[in-house]
Amino acid sequence: MRLLMWLGLVVLVYFAVRKNFRANQTRSGDTQKEEAWSDNTFPQSTGSKRVEAMLNCAHCQVYFPASEAVVRDTLHYCSTEHADAATQKN
Ligand SMILES: [Zn+2]
Repeated sequence: MRLLMWLGLVVLVYFAVRKNFRANQTRSGDTQKEEAWSDNTFPQSTGSKRVEAMLNCAHCQVYFPASEAVVRDTLHYCSTEHADAATQKN
């Protein structure tokens, strides 16, 4: 009877460990896939999961977040200086 109790305990521990191991494996696999995806698509957005639209300046062609855009005559600029420079030139 005592042997049966030990056998049951060993089987329980075996399944618990196996379940844990599998859960860890799938979890690490998912994060690896996610990291690869974000690295390929948005190399500039490391650290933050938020994806922001990027625009390029009509004057210097540098890429910057859309929230920082200066709009003038339907064109987007990285700064008011570049917006002024572009409008003065034309
Ligand atoms: Zn610019």
